[in-house]
Amino acid sequence: MEVRGYAAMAAGEELVPWEFRRRDIGDHDVAIAIEYSGICHSDIHRVRQEWETQTFPIVPGHEILGRVTRVGPEVTGFAVGQRVGVGVYVDSCRTCDNCVAGESNYCLEGAVETFAGIERDGHTVTQGGYSSAIVVDEGYVVSVPEALNSAAAAPLMCAGITVFSPLERFGAGPGKKVGVIGLGGLGHLAVLFAKALGAEVTVFSHSPGKASDATSLGAEHFVLSSDTDQMAAREKSFDIVINSVSAPLDSSQYLALLKLGGVLVFVGLSGQPYPINAFDLLNQRRMIAGSAIGSVAQLQHMLDFAAEKGVEAKVEVISADQINAAYERVVGSDVRYRFVIDASTF
Ligand code: NAP
Ligand code: ZN
Ligand code: ZN
Repeated sequence: MEVRGYAAMAAGEELVPWEFRRRDIGDHDVAIAIEYSGICHSDIHRVRQEWETQTFPIVPGHEILGRVTRVGPEVTGFAVGQRVGVGVYVDSCRTCDNCVAGESNYCLEGAVETFAGIERDGHTVTQGGYSSAIVVDEGYVVSVPEALNSAAAAPLMCAGITVFSPLERFGAGPGKKVGVIGLGGLGHLAVLFAKALGAEVTVFSHSPGKASDATSLGAEHFVLSSDTDQMAAREKSFDIVINSVSAPLDSSQYLALLKLGGVLVFVGLSGQPYPINAFDLLNQRRMIAGSAIGSVAQLQHMLDFAAEKGVEAKVEVISADQINAAYERVVGSDVRYRFVIDASTF
């Protein structure tokens, strides 16, 4: 099918309107009319080629929310008209140990990313959610609970699951202290989910102007990361610290915050190495971890939890012609707290 979208035609270029073809609907596919598409900092890293060399044009977008318009003859889980979401990947090998174990986001063959990925046919480049419609195998689509607002639910498809998954895995809950570094798209959802799980939350930010927002999101404490006295006062006190910063940072400064056996989880992806001093790990038997999005089943579980607890992203809905300006604001840490594109404007 022919679709309208916005694409970067070359690395670092501004996005422009672009029409392109999607595959015809297959037996197990659902066709989705996209209603909202979130802007993740990963879209910007990729378009600006800050991670690896890629093939252009790129239509970014992996926080997709829309309605099913057609289903293939073998589809069992979705019906025309249903509200659905698509996140960061649209396929995987389905046979490796991790796929079989239900962790296909860690597919040993590499999950097929929603955009700038290569389909399992070995050559087709995937194009993402900054577009009017998408065709996806039903095994990589989730149902969006009625209680969630459409625009505010779109960012849960990437930002939400990326922070919810490690918070749940590492036991965020009553009696636990969680630190969130960086109050952006991921960071503000980390605050909301950590609070919904019952933890005490501290935001570490390099933006003094975000203190009142941190409080209104529910965080108990706000620390300006440049304030060395405040940082020192919080050493050895956290169970979990989530780094959601899109730029490099000093890992020593944040490892020092962890109590005995505490974990610093990297979800932010600056594309640069982070030097680690082993002394910071030996002290208090600390751990470092990484975490990449979540499986399709975890995504569904997170959406159901979000609906039950009323967790939604704080969004600014924009039209397609505002994407390039929005990118500049994201890079300037001036997003409050997720841009979501109204897909009717593509
Ligand atoms: P974002 O909205 O731009 O938020 C990043 C935040 O980091 C900013 O709001 C800012 O918070 C802080 N920051 C930015 N530049 C900084 C600097 N130079 N020094 C210190 N702090 C800085 O980005 P996002 O969409 O949340 O994504 C965050 C990162 O996670 C990106 O690298 C993205 O690629 C990555 N990501 C990873 C996964 C995964 O599966 N692991 C999934 C999605 C995204 P303050 O103003 O509060 O300091
Ligand atoms: Zn993302
Ligand atoms: Zn696999």
